[in-house]
Amino acid sequence: MKFEKNEIVTVTIEDIGNEGEGIGRVNGFTLFVKDAVVGDTVEARIVKNKKTYAYGRLEKVLVPSPFRVEPKCAWHRQCGGCQLQACSYERQLIFKQDKIRSCLIRIGGFAPEQVDACMEPIVGMEDPFRYRNKAQYPVGTDRDGNVVAGFYAARTHNIIAHTDCWLGPVENETILNCILEYMRDYKVSAYDENTGTGLVRHILIRKGFASGEIMVCLVINAKKAFQIFPDQDALLEKLTAIEGMTSVSVSLNPEQTNVIMGKEIYTLWGKDTISDTIRVRDMTQTGFPLTGKELTFAISPLSFYQVNPVQTEKLYSLALEYAGLTGQETVWDLYCGIGTISLFLAGNAGRVYGVEVIPQAIEDARKNAERNGIENAAFFVGKAEDVLQEIYEGGMADNDERMLHPDVIVVDPPRKGCDSVCLEVMLKMRPERIVYVSCDPATLARDLKVLCGDGYALERVRGVDQFGGTVHVETVVSIQRKTS
Ligand code: SAH
Repeated sequence: MKFEKNEIVTVTIEDIGNEGEGIGRVNGFTLFVKDAVVGDTVEARIVKNKKTYAYGRLEKVLVPSPFRVEPKCAWHRQCGGCQLQACSYERQLIFKQDKIRSCLIRIGGFAPEQVDACMEPIVGMEDPFRYRNKAQYPVGTDRDGNVVAGFYAARTHNIIAHTDCWLGPVENETILNCILEYMRDYKVSAYDENTGTGLVRHILIRKGFASGEIMVCLVINAKKAFQIFPDQDALLEKLTAIEGMTSVSVSLNPEQTNVIMGKEIYTLWGKDTISDTIRVRDMTQTGFPLTGKELTFAISPLSFYQVNPVQTEKLYSLALEYAGLTGQETVWDLYCGIGTISLFLAGNAGRVYGVEVIPQAIEDARKNAERNGIENAAFFVGKAEDVLQEIYEGGMADNDERMLHPDVIVVDPPRKGCDSVCLEVMLKMRPERIVYVSCDPATLARDLKVLCGDGYALERVRGVDQFGGTVHVETVVSIQRKTS
């Protein structure tokens, strides 16, 4: 029996979908209900009907789930950011552990027993709020003509004015209000993506949690960086009065595009980068105690830097442990960003080679090596697949044998995973071990299927939650070359 559109149905939520939606079953139909928590019995209004499934809108919670908690943010339903805020953090972690496991089984083709034998318990956060060191707020104009900053309502580009996101530090609100006040006082326009007119598009804020240093970058619809803002000093005066302010810059993005950052950055005040420190932890001990080793990094606006610094210490320390280094090894770190993992590895390896596509990030990586007194790391700009292939095929002058046949390869690609050429060359290089750090269990499993189909065996798997409140999860995996 099919549902009628707008029909109200009662359903018990039994599972959590990939996007965090509740999943229940009624008369053989699968019903997806956004904002319903696993364990809830709810009334849902049918909004979309398909052959074997339907989408419902949560109307009323009849019997709340034992996992249901009071969300901290009043906007959690409108905002696309935190899909799981109404679900207890403990239950979120179970969902994430299951998500990794089921991807490895369904997509990776691994046997459940094998996955269970390799998988360690997920590393959760101590405080799942105020953990993000980076935020990018869209700027726009509301119905009454006021400039506002906030977030896009889920699946739209309508800006909901809201300056205190619970995932970021409290300073973000102060910074946004400074900029908005300045824009109102000096009649500075916000960008309008429909017409391509107006000046201020986005505000990027980044904070070094260990250093306390703050970076603000205004993304503007302009082709030049100078004499753009009326009375620029008035803006800078407000911003630089904020404790920790270290760098104020603009990013030029005159294109009509969804890409947030432009390619050129000009510093208006202070330094070009902020710094942060990441400490090495012993992941084999309970409580993951500090080892006393630490590294500091310079980060520029365009460079990728992990968004949750507290969990990043655990993630990198785990990657280091999984790499199993003794001090002699040659290691490749693909998708290396500003060289964070590379430099973690360098302390325990003979030689480390990092590869990254963003030139500014490699500039940061080289400076970071120098700043930490590390001399056994070298970095290449380019796509991992191109650089690796070029070097393997002998296009580079000084390839030594160890570079072509490293002991360990670490990869940490973006959500889309590794390029197939990259996987192919990695297999030709035949390292003893590959450590895969991933922010998407589905593409991780897809790539592991390729690697483990050609002479590698799953060794260790562990989730690290970097993104409390959301459906996202980070995973570290090691695979080992089979001896035969
Ligand atoms: N390991 C780093 C960065 C991980 S994020 C860290 O932990 O900070 C993934 C990185 O891959 C980003 O810096 C991105 O710019 C880079 N990247 C994306 N596609 C790439 C490609 N094809 N080759 C090399 N790097 C790429």
